[in-house]
Amino acid sequence: MPRANDAITARLLAEVDRRRDELASLLSSLVQFSTVNYGDAHDGFDGIPNGNELPCAIWLRDWIRNARISGDVYEAAPTRGSLIARLPGDGRHPDWRLTSPSLMLMSHLDVVPVEDAHRWPHPPFAGVVAGGTVFGRGSRDAKGIAAASAMAMAVLRQANVRLGGDLVMLAAADEESGGRFGAGWVTSHPDLGARVRTTAALNEGGGSVLTLPGNGLGYTWATGEKGRLEVTLVVSGSSGHASAPWRAQNSLERAATVLSRLQAHSPEIHTSHPIFEALRKAFGLPGELNPETLERVIATIGDVGRGAVGLMLGASRITIVPTMIQAGVKSNSIPGTCTITCDVRALPGQDVAYVQGVLNALLDGLPWVTISIAETAISNDSPWDHPLRDAATDGIRSATGRSDAVLLPALCSGFTDSRFARANGTHVFDCAPGDWRDTSSDTGVHGTNERILIDSLVTMTRFFVATACNYLGVAD
Ligand SMILES: [Zn+2]
Repeated sequence: MPRANDAITARLLAEVDRRRDELASLLSSLVQFSTVNYGDAHDGFDGIPNGNELPCAIWLRDWIRNARISGDVYEAAPTRGSLIARLPGDGRHPDWRLTSPSLMLMSHLDVVPVEDAHRWPHPPFAGVVAGGTVFGRGSRDAKGIAAASAMAMAVLRQANVRLGGDLVMLAAADEESGGRFGAGWVTSHPDLGARVRTTAALNEGGGSVLTLPGNGLGYTWATGEKGRLEVTLVVSGSSGHASAPWRAQNSLERAATVLSRLQAHSPEIHTSHPIFEALRKAFGLPGELNPETLERVIATIGDVGRGAVGLMLGASRITIVPTMIQAGVKSNSIPGTCTITCDVRALPGQDVAYVQGVLNALLDGLPWVTISIAETAISNDSPWDHPLRDAATDGIRSATGRSDAVLLPALCSGFTDSRFARANGTHVFDCAPGDWRDTSSDTGVHGTNERILIDSLVTMTRFFVATACNYLGVAD
């Protein structure tokens, strides 16, 4: 199947531009569904069950069906609906066996809670569209991606473009609380798993813009996620009356030693991730980046490439960060034990044994500390060298009109549903790019006044259309 010719792509992208207002109003409608995910054990608020993605998923399914695309909603549990839609490629299989290559556009319909609605300029669930912006919780994370995915499929369907392989959309429930009722369930389901097992997928978690020297554009293309471990350090001492500290061993004072050791930790530096070579080229740095030169490079590019520095820091080292501390029962009693909890983000290959080794060395000579480690998510990765990357590089150039745009490999420090799709046999790349002039790429995500420029929604949709055509091929 040949790659999309430029004339077809240009016609499709012009159609995306033409449907700009419809795209904004599609997102506004999605934002107006309350799909707040408070976490697994929660019953929800005001009679609305926790998550409650079902009505939103059904509404989006109907929108998609109106566009003459097949889609269905599946419930992992009551009210927890996930939408799977498919635009069959040439040589379609009616029984849902996917044609190859196949591409999935991933998003999620649940959102995080709003902390203080009064601090928002518009009510967070009103879906206000004003000043070229869609406001509201989920407008970026990730209903904006769901809207762009649905519109991309609708534009391709309406134009009767014959793609060389299937284009699938998954708008999942429960991403914000671990995916047990969403992508985790869908990908491991005996029937549904195969429907979402594509050769490649695009998901949230990347697509941030970095300005490179010479004003080139770098869009992050996250190929993997760090692992997460939770470390509990129990510091033992002995309790006693606070008026006679010499008769007790204050566990809080011992904890201070532990905290300062953690703070002084200088982690092993790795520069094997493809991000380093890509940034070296992008910033025109001589030679090879290695652990010895990395810190110097970081200092050199400093403010010019603050985004790049972040990428390098994240991909080069484990982080061990104390996040909670607990001790004491009363203000006049010396606490006999103190518990310190740490969030650990590990590079691919750094397992429990590795982390144990790091902590043993770090806390050497402190026999009163016990260490326990729980691995809550294992690091996962897709290849940097994958045909979708070339398709997406051309896609981002068509979408933005910037021939100097490049993709920069990245490693996510957080989690998305990508890990479930990877475990299901799909290579997933996190890239949901917006307009390059939209410098507020993370505006309000998980915070106050979440919003997205309509320009960014349009760019994202154009990117999905162009990348799908490039990757799947188009029959004339
Ligand atoms: Zn998200």
